[in-house]
Amino acid sequence: MGFSEELASITHAKISLDEQMDKHTALRVGGVAKYYAKANSLHGLNQLLETCKSYKKHYKVLGNGTNVLVSDKGFDGLIIDIRPLSDVFFKRDEVRASAGASLEKLIKFAYEHKLSGIEALSGIPATVGGAVVMNAGAFGHNICDYITTVETLCDGKIKFYSKEECKFGYRTSRFLGKKEVIIFASFKLNESEREIIRAGIKTYAELRKSVQPTGSSCGSVFKNPKPSSAGALIERAGLKGFAVGGATVSEKHGNFIITERGASATDVYLLIKYVKEKIKEVFDVDLVEEVEYVGEF
Ligand SMILES: Cc1cc2nc3c(=O)[nH]c(=O)nc-3n(C[C@H](O)[C@H](O)[C@H](O)COP(=O)(O)OP(=O)(O)OC[C@H]3O[C@@H](n4cnc5c(N)ncnc54)[C@H](O)[C@@H]3O)c2cc1C
Repeated sequence: MGFSEELASITHAKISLDEQMDKHTALRVGGVAKYYAKANSLHGLNQLLETCKSYKKHYKVLGNGTNVLVSDKGFDGLIIDIRPLSDVFFKRDEVRASAGASLEKLIKFAYEHKLSGIEALSGIPATVGGAVVMNAGAFGHNICDYITTVETLCDGKIKFYSKEECKFGYRTSRFLGKKEVIIFASFKLNESEREIIRAGIKTYAELRKSVQPTGSSCGSVFKNPKPSSAGALIERAGLKGFAVGGATVSEKHGNFIITERGASATDVYLLIKYVKEKIKEVFDVDLVEEVEYVGEF
């Protein structure tokens, strides 16, 4: 049996070939993934990983695809979509979420059970797994502030990491760029009242709406070169509204690139490159991408 046939024989996964990645990424650009699999169970996920290992094929796990730029040349391996693994439940006094659950689902679960803490993360269009890898955060709160443990799958084994072992930093963790797949994260939240939690969610949603543009984007393109902010530098360099093909630096927020219909990943890539060069020239600051490149550029 070849790799495709082996994949097709995995009953706990749904396989497709030459999958258009613009459908699966928030920037709405990018070429095809040669192989694409929705993992419908942990067993299926493990079989996908083992099959890649046996055939020496590379893979990439994606959540909601809100922090990736997939090349127009596509991805020559297997993209694993783990969004079907989306349970959120209690484990003793902690909330345990499967990596494919959306942050929105986690926040709703917390609200329903009168648990507070993660309201500031509402509006981040991430899965739990993607948010853990990136240590997603907003308005001074990061997901790591509420995490107790993370569980991963690697080489057929489940590993447990304490919060300290996760090595969280500003938009990073030990899992970024690694082969280990996050399968669960557990959270310790605080008891509160629904009205208070709801008010918090509303406040953060309004704040987000006031500063962030709508349209297809990947959120912040660059990490903030502390103590400065990437958006402020880009604005001061006069780059707001600057465009390459169908990709434009947002007029509302300098750290957002908005793509229009017909844009390509190359447009986004060249715009990022141009912004970096300009910021280096004007301020002698090296901007570092928060968005991750997938495939060859
Ligand atoms: C409109 C908009 C607003 C945003 N606002 C914010 C914000 O306020 N704060 C913020 O921090 N970010 C923000 N982002 C960026 C993005 O949502 C976050 O980086 C988020 O954490 C990515 O989650 P995801 O599920 O989409 O991950 P993906 O983009 O699918 O993947 C990101 C990385 O995580 C890896 N990954 C995903 N799941 C797993 C897993 N289970 N196991 C191992 N690796 C995995 C991928 O391989 C990839 O390396 C925004 C994006 C958009 C489009």
